[in-house]
Amino acid sequence: MTQPTSAPAADIADAMAAAGLQPGRSPAPVRLPDPGVLFQRRADRLRRLAPGHPLSAWLEFVTLLSETQHALAAAPLSAPATPQAQWRRDLEALRKRLRGALPIPAAEALDALPWTDADALDGLAARLTAGALRPDDLAATPFVAAALQIAWTRHAGGLDASGIAAPATAVTCPVCGGAPVAGVIHAGSDISGLRYLHCGLCHTAWHHVRSACVSCGEGNRISLRAIEGADGPARAETCDACQSHLKLLLAEKAPDLDPVADDLASFALDVLVGDGGYAPIGLNLFLAQAG
Ligand SMILES: [Zn+2]
Ligand SMILES: [Zn+2]
Repeated sequence: MTQPTSAPAADIADAMAAAGLQPGRSPAPVRLPDPGVLFQRRADRLRRLAPGHPLSAWLEFVTLLSETQHALAAAPLSAPATPQAQWRRDLEALRKRLRGALPIPAAEALDALPWTDADALDGLAARLTAGALRPDDLAATPFVAAALQIAWTRHAGGLDASGIAAPATAVTCPVCGGAPVAGVIHAGSDISGLRYLHCGLCHTAWHHVRSACVSCGEGNRISLRAIEGADGPARAETCDACQSHLKLLLAEKAPDLDPVADDLASFALDVLVGDGGYAPIGLNLFLAQAG
């Protein structure tokens, strides 16, 4: 039998003390995204990460998608709908804005989506967010991911965080149910030193105890791994109790980090720990092809 190594409340108190916070003050359990700036900041971060990177062509492509997402997410909607219906409108708007800007294979993949079949599009979206894509889904998934992120981030950004319950051991997003793309250890603010898991779909962040494995709750068999010689903010948190891993990003190493961008840019770390037999907890919608 294994026992939890620390109670969540004690963990939070420790982290708060380490962060210089006043006793009795709780960290915000949920932080909602700002759709007016999130995608622009991602594009800016990707533009800094891409030069000389082994995946530079992919990072530049996601930069283009992020800029287009920004143009759509930052503009008010004339007739708001639920994200489940809105994402298909955002997909059409993406297609219009990207016309002429895409390489031919990407443009063909976008045109080949089942545009007149809402059920087929929703099915593709469901497979993408479940990490269960079929081989013939792959070519168009970046566009589907981009549209889903716009609709869900706009939705999350319009909520009231005080009305959202998120236990500090939650594995999935308290707003959309999505998987985290990565954890971030924040720095230089009232949540300095705390870990938040960041949703890869609606971009809500929720506090999660730092000393426990996100998947199984075990605290004693966690290791942090990095690529030797790499200077970036990415670490892989691996758990030998359940053989899982999740990306952990250290904001003190890169105050401008973006969880989705930095997770993409540190893909070599996923390969390293994947080869070591650890199964991913996180899901990056722009890396769905890699699975
Ligand atoms: Zn979410
Ligand atoms: Zn575990």
